[in-house]
Amino acid sequence: MSTSGGNQVQSSALKVLQDVFGFEQFRVDQELIIERILAGRDALVLMPTGGGKSLCYQIPALLGQGITVVISPLIALMEDQVEALKQAGVAAAALNSSMATQQRREVWDRLRSGELKLLYVAPERLLLDGFLDELYNFNPCLFAIDEAHCISQWGHDFRPEYQRLGIVRKRFPDVPIIALTATADSPTRKDIIKGLGFTDDDLFISSFDRPNIRYRVVAKDQPRRQLLAMIRERHGGEAGIVYCSSRKKVDDTAEWLRGEGVRAVPYHAGMAAQQRSLNQQLFLREEGIVVVATVAFGMGIDKPNVRFVAHLDMPASPQHYSQESGRAGRDGLPAEAWLCYGWSDVVLAQRRLAESDLDPTQRRISHHQIDAMLAYCESSGCRRGILLRFFGESEIDCTADGNQCDNCEKSPEVMDGTVLAQKALSAVVKTGQRFGKGHVIDVLRGVANQKVTRFGHDRLSVYGIGEELEGPGWHSIFRQLASRGMIQIDLEGHGGIAATEASRELLRGEQQFEFRKDAITRKASKSRKRKKKLEGLDAVQSSLFEQLRQHRLEISRQLEVPPYTIFHDSTLVEMSQLRPQTNGQMSSISGVGQKKLEKWGAGFLEVIRSHGSPSDR
Ligand code: ADP
Repeated sequence: MSTSGGNQVQSSALKVLQDVFGFEQFRVDQELIIERILAGRDALVLMPTGGGKSLCYQIPALLGQGITVVISPLIALMEDQVEALKQAGVAAAALNSSMATQQRREVWDRLRSGELKLLYVAPERLLLDGFLDELYNFNPCLFAIDEAHCISQWGHDFRPEYQRLGIVRKRFPDVPIIALTATADSPTRKDIIKGLGFTDDDLFISSFDRPNIRYRVVAKDQPRRQLLAMIRERHGGEAGIVYCSSRKKVDDTAEWLRGEGVRAVPYHAGMAAQQRSLNQQLFLREEGIVVVATVAFGMGIDKPNVRFVAHLDMPASPQHYSQESGRAGRDGLPAEAWLCYGWSDVVLAQRRLAESDLDPTQRRISHHQIDAMLAYCESSGCRRGILLRFFGESEIDCTADGNQCDNCEKSPEVMDGTVLAQKALSAVVKTGQRFGKGHVIDVLRGVANQKVTRFGHDRLSVYGIGEELEGPGWHSIFRQLASRGMIQIDLEGHGGIAATEASRELLRGEQQFEFRKDAITRKASKSRKRKKKLEGLDAVQSSLFEQLRQHRLEISRQLEVPPYTIFHDSTLVEMSQLRPQTNGQMSSISGVGQKKLEKWGAGFLEVIRSHGSPSDR
């Protein structure tokens, strides 16, 4: 890439940001990264989902002399990005196997004519015989490798063909490469740096903090009902993702939600490809769809106005959780990450470890990740802080920017649970360390059922010593004991629990046990007022916002593109608040670039005018 004076580069990049993308200013790292690329240097960009990675290569692409080749693992992802760029008036195209020969020929023609600025390809195509030779003719000025963690075997999305991308550096030694990912762990980072011939100096790590996401964890009681209550109370009619650990659970949950009036569709790898793709399109193109999915769903889902991400099962690690929950609120507006967690998750976590055939080092890492995830669920501290600490970032003060997690919003009640924990552990030991949690709790609570009497457990000294707590309270004690490694579950047999070495000190009274009381809400309180659609909008603004949203949906249906490629919710929110009356005022709204103003400005202005000015009301 050609270098001109630093200030000149800055001002031309800013001009593209404002004119083409309609944004006023760069986010913290974007400017630095773009400057570096324009100076012909490489960059490995680690930014959370929604951080604004795409502009880091799209703006250099528009300023460079030649073609920028974007390597992206998913066809759906590239098609969406190309569509969004086209709407902003940028000459971009994709080449992939799903296209007809004629369509591919047209792309090659546009390449030859020098008209295209960005070309999206899958790694398989880039590595096809002769493809790189052909590229020489079109003067590539930048390679952008999206989802770069696919290079690493450590990453959860490892793709063998990504590992061969080092060839780009060999064949085009003078062309800068920008690699981008939202997966931040250190082994993955090292693999990318090595694989692409980067140096540590090329690394840019943005903060993984997502202040617009409100994190909540609830104790599993009736998970589907709890999910429904959450949707109805806070996200009625909004788009969301619900993650489940199995395909069957995905199907059952989606069907159940539909029966309850939620527009839910399933998504998992076991479905027919066509149905899966239809459901994904529906989610992207319609408003207010809830996708119930396994983690197969998500990579490359760029929908900016996902208002909640719910987990009905515990994610595999804090990295997974950050990435999955990070799909909420990419537009920067308030969003929620909700996790429903219970004993079954503790068992699943232990099973994952027991069954994995990892080598000792990987097993240690995996153990650490699962422990960290359990700690996240059980903690009484700031959840955002816990996630950030995992990525090596320092503490944040969650209360300072409006209580963004449940624990900061309302501190959970914490009490000294040493005696309770000792009682629980004694009951485990006295019943022979082979019975499941339910039975041990029955013994503790003095329930004289058949099983208890058959084994003579009603004659044990621990029988009935735990009447001070109800069942859910004891379940919570056991979960918290498991999350601190004090009990272990027999995964081979029937889920019997045993006390571990780590519980010795507690049993001997040499250690304290701090117990967090769970708030188990069986029913959503009906008296609670339904929250406003979008925070910060009054009633008049909300009604205008709904009309603008409807207008956007009509355009998007006509064009058969996702609504957010027209305007993001954040742009409509600003329109509702500022009520622009002229083209000039409209162009100052964030997200309204020149092309979009020309195409749709008049229509949206009309909606605002016919809604009347606030003084008319
Ligand atoms: P990522 O690829 O990192 O997940 P995107 O590139 O999709 O994120 O950007 C996330 C959202 O932020 C998009 O809606 C994008 O238009 C918006 N965005 C990016 N940069 C800016 C900026 N400088 N100002 C305002 N919005 C921005």
